[in-house]
Parts: sequence; C-alpha cells; structure tokens
Amino acid sequence: AKKQGKDRVEVFRPELQASFQAGLRLEADLRRAVVRHEFELRYQPIVHLRTGEITGLEALVRWQHPERGLIPPLDFIPLAEETGMIVPIGEWVLREACRQAADWNAQRAGRRPLTVSVNMSAVQLDQADLPEVVAAALEGGGLPAANLVIELTESLLVDHRPSTLRQLERIKELGVRLAIDDFGTGYSSLAYLRRFPVDIIKIDKSFVDDVGDVPAAAALTLGIIQLGQALSLSTIAEGIEDAGQLLELTDGNCELGQGYYFAEPLTEQAMSDLLDRKD
Ligand code: C2E
Ligand code: CA
Ligand code: CA
Ligand code: CA
Repeated sequence: AKKQGKDRVEVFRPELQASFQAGLRLEADLRRAVVRHEFELRYQPIVHLRTGEITGLEALVRWQHPERGLIPPLDFIPLAEETGMIVPIGEWVLREACRQAADWNAQRAGRRPLTVSVNMSAVQLDQADLPEVVAAALEGGGLPAANLVIELTESLLVDHRPSTLRQLERIKELGVRLAIDDFGTGYSSLAYLRRFPVDIIKIDKSFVDDVGDVPAAAALTLGIIQLGQALSLSTIAEGIEDAGQLLELTDGNCELGQGYYFAEPLTEQAMSDLLDRKD
C-alpha cells in the first residue's frame, strides 16, 4: 500500500484492527449475555467496626462468559454504559439483589434486617422510569425500601443533568437511602453533599490504604468521618485489608467498613454460609 497519509496507515495497524474486532465481539457477546442472563452477583459484607456484626451487603456484578470465564465489572461495565446495555443489566442486578436480601432477611427473622447496596450508573439515572423500576424491584423481591441503598459515584454527580436531582428525590421518596461511593476522589465532594440528598458516605479505598502509615491520609480520613458525623451521615470505609487500618478507623469512630480483612465479595452460597455461621 502506498502512503495515504499518516492517519490512514495507523488505522490498519494489525493490533488496532484486532482490538477493534475484539471490541465488536465483546459487544455482540454482551448483547447475548443480556438475553441469556449470563450475569451473577457477589456479595461483600458491610460490617459494624466496633462489634464486627454484619449490617449489610454490597452487591457486585460479574459476567459468567461461556468461553472466557468470569469477567470482572470494570472489563464490561464501561461498554455496557456506552451501549445502553447497562439499563437491562442494572435492572436485573437491582431485582436480584432485592430478592436475595429479602430471602436472607426472612431466614434471619427476629434479627436486624440486612441492607443491600446496589451500584448505579449515570445512564440508569437518566432513565425517566428509574423510580418505578426501583419500586418494582422492591415489591417484586419483598424488600422494604429502608433496606435498600443505592450507591452513586461522584463522577456520576459531576456531569449530572438538571433531571438528576429530581430523580434522586423521587427515589428517596420511596424510602431508599443514597450513598456517595468513592468519596473524596472527585473534585467537589463537599458541594455534592450540599446539593444531593445523600445518607451515606463511602470513604474511598485510596484513603483507607494509607490510613495507618501516612499522616495526611489519616487526617483526611478522620476529617471525612467527622464531616459525616456533623451531617448525621453514616460513614463506610472501603477496602479495609488489615488490622492496623481497622484499629485506626475504629479509633476515629468510623461506623461501618468493608474489605478483604473481613471478606471478599462472596458467592450467594458462601454468603449464606457466612450468615448462618454468625447466628
Ligand atoms: P466499587 O463500587 O467501588 O466496589 C468496590 C470494589 O472494590 C469491588 O470490586 C470490590 O471487590 C473491591 N474490594 C472490596 N474490598 C476490597 C479490598 O479490601 N481490597 C481491594 N483491593 N479491593 C476490594 P469489583 O467487584 O471488581 O467492582 C469494581 C467496580 O465495578 C465497583 O467499584 C463498581 O464501581 C462497579 N460495579 C460493580 N457492580 C456493579 C453494578 O452492578 N452496577 C454498576 N453500575 N457498577 C458496578
Ligand atoms: Ca460501590
Ligand atoms: Ca467504592
Ligand atoms: Ca471504586
């Protein structure tokens, strides 16, 4: 092939072509996955730091690909968001998480019900019928709205549309609580706390990682916890991996936490076993 200008030559670099085709393949596979229900949930316990009691679970989606095996969310959620497929996937996650949490709560009758936390993408929030979808998931699963938490990332709130606030208010009116995920990683975390009807702050793992050994990280983490207390919000520390971090967070009066130190995201069966054991 003769020179046809730099851009043109670039396009036909074999590795680019391969990754382009892989992208198309993945998209076709994802469409099929939606139809064939190839998704699964894992559940990570959320723990009361002082007592060790499990108070809730975060539902985390996985794609069980027939040839490639288990695909983590960060490898397909962005594509699902670009293509809009996150809408049916997210709806399934919501329904499944509500049903499963209601099931576990029924087995734990007489004990404090667990809350279930579900991650939500901006694309889902842009759907005008989201409040109805949430209400239907609660009703279908038999889960009281007070036991559902919807987790939103700061980045989602950054480029929010005018309709976003109204959507969140309508969801709150159902009795569902809202959490800001990855708190402290965005540029205007504090502004969101004022603007959006948030109930829970999830302290990003990057703070928790260094809380035991970097004074600035410790100061910021304690500052976030105190901010939460001042605003009557719950704080959940994410990504706790060792006893040192736990001690630091407990000393700082952080209420709740999750991380590999307690448990990784577990299959439904493993989570059932863990809940039985704690009885
Ligand atoms: P996230 O919401 O911040 O979830 C926490 C991630 O950290 C999870 O990764 C979890 O497995 C991992 N993690 C928990 N504890 C520890 C720890 O102690 N150490 C380390 N290194 N990691 C820990 P996962 O399951 O791969 O999920 C990644 C992200 O994918 C989530 O981040 C969330 O943003 C997104 N995601 C997961 N499920 C869904 C979903 O159903 N819908 C949407 N829209 N996004 C989802
Ligand atoms: Ca989350
Ligand atoms: Ca997070
Ligand atoms: Ca994250």
